[in-house]
Amino acid sequence: MNTIVCKFGGSSLASAEQFRKVKEIIQSDPARRYVVASAPGKRNAKDIKITDLLYRACAAAREGRPYEEILGTIGGRYDGIASELGIPFDTASEMEALRQHLAISPDPEFCASRGEHIGAKLLAAYLGFPFYDAKDGIVFRPDGTLSARRTDKALGEGLAGLPCAVIPGFYGAEENGRIRTFSRGGSDVTGALAARAVHAGVYENWTDVSGMLFCDPRIVQDPQTIPYVTYRELRELSYMGASVLHEDAVFPVSAAGIPIHIMNTNRPGDDGTRIVPALPAGYRMRTVTGIAGKKGFSSILIEQSMMNSTVGFGAKLLAILASYGVPFEHCPTGIDTMSVVVETAHFTEHREEILSDIQKELMPERVLVEDGLAMIAVVGCGMVASRGCAARIFRTVADAGINIRMIDQGSSELNIILGVDEADFEDAIRSIYREFR
Ligand code: ASP
Repeated sequence: MNTIVCKFGGSSLASAEQFRKVKEIIQSDPARRYVVASAPGKRNAKDIKITDLLYRACAAAREGRPYEEILGTIGGRYDGIASELGIPFDTASEMEALRQHLAISPDPEFCASRGEHIGAKLLAAYLGFPFYDAKDGIVFRPDGTLSARRTDKALGEGLAGLPCAVIPGFYGAEENGRIRTFSRGGSDVTGALAARAVHAGVYENWTDVSGMLFCDPRIVQDPQTIPYVTYRELRELSYMGASVLHEDAVFPVSAAGIPIHIMNTNRPGDDGTRIVPALPAGYRMRTVTGIAGKKGFSSILIEQSMMNSTVGFGAKLLAILASYGVPFEHCPTGIDTMSVVVETAHFTEHREEILSDIQKELMPERVLVEDGLAMIAVVGCGMVASRGCAARIFRTVADAGINIRMIDQGSSELNIILGVDEADFEDAIRSIYREFR
């Protein structure tokens, strides 16, 4: 039996009703042995996440403002869940430990970690599973970065002694015991690390959506769910704004070849999305797996006769950008022109200096900066070596009356990126969706 690691997000653990659904899911498959828990999230749109309340309490303590009321709200959430589920749980001593910490040396990372810590203890009590404290298995360096190697060893050894366990997400500790957290949404990372440490057959990530969508539902109404996506496709889509998992959650499992299954706690019968190293044999691959995109890009176009024979021209241009810490996204070139696409937000601060350095060092005939560009990535391993795919994209966008301002096809052929005016962004995505859905 292949072990399953399940991570439940904040909305899956927001109330007693959600806890019940989680228990049912865990009990329906004995392979679901290790459970990673987020802190209770929002029960409705107006609610506040426990993690946010904890950050607020910590900020209040640091600034000498009262925080008792916030602690009351936090304790009340856990108490409410425990009493509704009918399990004895000592919320008061957990809250007292937090209160003592706040009174002496309020540390935001420690405070925020208590959301997962207390919630996971409560879930462990409800499931009848042992509680495994993430501080003993997730190892951070003093600079706040994860030590992947030491984590793999400590977590692997710690969990090997337990037939099953509930593990709080989001935090770990330095070797001296100081609690450290990942960035927001980091319980996804804990789940991935646990899956790798126990050599899980699959990492199930339970959330409140039935998987990853073909494109942004705010742009296209009810887009299809993506049944399978490869790690590489996911990387391309996430980079362009499709958010489904914490970015750092993919590498630990992809390196170990462990598939991730995104599932919906509220609709456990739905297929969800499987993130896999390679598509399964016999799966009818779609040409396009998904579409993602972002606004807020600028293009810097440089014109210089005989550029094509001037060795080092491009290197100098990129070095200027690098010297101001501006990463470039794309770099389409012509014979006597070269443009670099950058995120406007990165470029704005040193715009004048960068343009003046370009004038001084490259002495171009013309420099033109255009803002208001949007980038759209059409991603799919089905496009690799497939004829006519680019033509279909360009035709459908042209038929929608949209001018394409930049085209870039990654050499992996896994994606085609289009640059369009920001005003055309949504229409372009809709037209590509209609063509490939
Ligand atoms: N509770 C943390 C947050 O709200 C971590 C997580 O839920 O993954 O960001």
